[in-house]
Amino acid sequence: MESFKFIRANDPRGAITSMTGGGAKIIAGGTNLVDLMKLNIERPAQLIDINGLKMQTIETLPNGTIKIGALVKNSDLAYHPLIMKNFPVLSEALLSGASAQLRNMATVGGNLLQRTRCPYFYDTAAPCNKRVPGSGCSAIDGYNRNNAVLGTSKYCIATHPSDMCVAMAALGAVIHVQGPAGPREIPFADFHLLPAQTPQYETTLKHDELITSVDIPPIPYAIRSHYLKVRDRASYEFALASAAVILDINGGRIKDARIALGGVGTKPWRSKLAEKVLTGAAANEQSYRTAAEAALSEAKPYKHNAFKIELAKRTLVHALTTVGGMS
Ligand SMILES: Cc1cc2nc3c(=O)[nH]c(=O)nc-3n(C[C@H](O)[C@H](O)[C@H](O)COP(=O)(O)OP(=O)(O)OC[C@H]3O[C@@H](n4cnc5c(N)ncnc54)[C@H](O)[C@@H]3O)c2cc1C
Ligand code: SF4
Repeated sequence: MESFKFIRANDPRGAITSMTGGGAKIIAGGTNLVDLMKLNIERPAQLIDINGLKMQTIETLPNGTIKIGALVKNSDLAYHPLIMKNFPVLSEALLSGASAQLRNMATVGGNLLQRTRCPYFYDTAAPCNKRVPGSGCSAIDGYNRNNAVLGTSKYCIATHPSDMCVAMAALGAVIHVQGPAGPREIPFADFHLLPAQTPQYETTLKHDELITSVDIPPIPYAIRSHYLKVRDRASYEFALASAAVILDINGGRIKDARIALGGVGTKPWRSKLAEKVLTGAAANEQSYRTAAEAALSEAKPYKHNAFKIELAKRTLVHALTTVGGMS
């Protein structure tokens, strides 16, 4: 680990000003950033501790939107009564991630920006376009069992590792950020980038912008939702495949569906293709299977991860069956 300066921000403006020249990074829970610094993958000259900023609350706005401060801990969000009751998909996604100790440290803002778990990204002796642009991708012809099948490019096939983000993608969250030019909001679908030719760029957040909060819009039927995660062991493990499912069902018919997949995409994967199949369809196994086929129709397998395509389909069908039942 290289030496660095450490400062505490007293207000958002101070944090943003400290980031202006580049070379500085915000630290929230530190559960991802510190690991990356120990491996010299991240080498900030300065860390800005934002834990003193007032961004720890969860509140309901007059229009029913839930505003979640960027410093809300993953465990506090998962166990908040409003989230458990109205957005079980988000609570379940958070509780499926990492371990209790990590969830007590990890924040919402940090979770949005956590980096991939592709093993070559962490191996500084291996070529990796995400870590060293232009060096090549070791995973494409290497051991790629855990890598993505959706949204890949010839430059990078790394999965996005977050569980929380998959639920937020399905919920259509909105991310609020503040920078030198003032505040702006980013729809969740526009926040994470596909790798394309530049996998080193992972989000549309600018280097001197601070995430201040995340809004979850009111979705009354999200009370009927579920997150299912399939992994190599029952806890403390990233997803091989996961599904976030929210269904509005009336009289055995699906009025509206929100579907997102994890563990298989290079970004949290909202599946508009599956949603299109489900909207207006009967809530039954046939519809769920057709939706799963659509969700994975653009998947591209690599040498060791073709199994993920069938696994993701079954995961989605299982989650849909749990939420929608069979008619
Ligand atoms: C062993 C282990 C297992 C894990 N398993 C899972 C899992 O199964 N599922 C899962 O989803 N996650 C998992 N995680 C990841 C964990 O959820 C993340 O490490 C955590 O959410 C990051 O939050 P943090 O507050 O600690 O971020 P930090 O490490 O503090 O920061 C991460 C990044 O976000 C930036 N940042 C933080 N807050 C802000 C802000 N407000 N504005 C702008 N930039 C900001 C930092 O500069 C940094 O680049 C695991 C982590 C570990 C170590
Ligand atoms: S998949 Fe992406 S992160 Fe992994 S080695 Fe290739 S470029 Fe690096």
